[in-house]
Amino acid sequence: MERVLVTGGAGFIGSAVVRLLVTRGLRVVTVDKLTYSGTLSSLGSVAGAANHRFVEADIADAERIGALLREERIQGVMHLAAESHVDRSIDGPAVFVETNVVGTFRLLEAILGYWDALAGQEREAFRFHHISTDEVYGDLPYDSGVITETTPYAPSSPYSASKAASDHLVRAWHYTYGLPVVLSNCSNNYGPFHFPEKLIPLVILNALEGKPLPLYGRGENVRDWMFVEDNARALELVLTRGRVGQSYNVGGRAERTNLQVVEAICELLDERLPLGGARNRRSLIRFVADRPGHDRRYAIDPSKAELELGWQAEEGFDSGLAKTVDWYLDNPWWWRPLREKRYSGDRLGRTIRAAGPQPGRG
Ligand code: NAD
Repeated sequence: MERVLVTGGAGFIGSAVVRLLVTRGLRVVTVDKLTYSGTLSSLGSVAGAANHRFVEADIADAERIGALLREERIQGVMHLAAESHVDRSIDGPAVFVETNVVGTFRLLEAILGYWDALAGQEREAFRFHHISTDEVYGDLPYDSGVITETTPYAPSSPYSASKAASDHLVRAWHYTYGLPVVLSNCSNNYGPFHFPEKLIPLVILNALEGKPLPLYGRGENVRDWMFVEDNARALELVLTRGRVGQSYNVGGRAERTNLQVVEAICELLDERLPLGGARNRRSLIRFVADRPGHDRRYAIDPSKAELELGWQAEEGFDSGLAKTVDWYLDNPWWWRPLREKRYSGDRLGRTIRAAGPQPGRG
């Protein structure tokens, strides 16, 4: 595969994918609408690369996407463009349906039109990789096992329901029209260039500034965490080696409660920048009213991706978190403008406005 189009490539995971594929020498066309979470500066390292092209466009603009696919003779599409923040989906679900469901539908139509006109080896080798989330499987009890690719979907939030709907559309376009698709459902990502409204960057930056660290409920909810660069490698392998029509769960085998994550960040920052006296950053933790419909636990079994694709998460949670904290300490040029805009009141939802900045997930 030599020419790939990445939707949502100015976002957190998308930009990691674009940086990886450009470094590998592929021709990469990034399509992004640059919503509040799209950040061109995340693509700074590839901005001047001859094998990278950025196009500001909406995935719902089927005509534009179709023209780009033909012009660039695209061989594979990685679809990451989405509305991705659960809290925002609770405050304003409409845009989640528009982007994640209708947007994916329009994208599928554009891709099907393009693929239908291909012939021979080009048609055979084409792939559409739809990137989804472990949240589509819904709430998992604390004392139960892990999720596999055959676990039934049971989404709880407007975000996860919209992602589940888009997964169903993608599978239907495969079974009904023969479009060669692969899907992946990944767990919580963390790492550099993560938009500062999400749990880990929010806590790093609040803790850095000595601000309260809001934690839903008692901080007992469990998530599986994966370093974003591990995920980017996995997504590349799903595209290039995944079996058509199959889904792959991708996770870091690193389950942590939210409280454990926040405490670990506090310790890392206390080591690097002690507050002085006997104070430590754990004292900044504030338990806040729980998110409505807050799933207790997500836990992914990535065995299928490991066995079939030869993928392994390389970064352990402790080392990955330390790298992430150091990245935020070293790169205020990236997050400061976003954080200033984020907290100016611009685009904040009702819940967030009423209760102050709160942690979320994506
Ligand atoms: P993000 O919010 O950081 O990035 C989303 C990107 O999509 C942004 O650059 C935004 O500008 C772009 N976008 C939004 N609407 C668009 C439209 N209509 N047309 C074109 N571009 C548009 O999200 P992320 O965290 O990088 O997540 C990427 C994908 O991975 C999403 O599909 C998400 O559901 C999935 N996912 C994320 C996580 C995670 O932990 N972040 C976990 C599992 C799955």
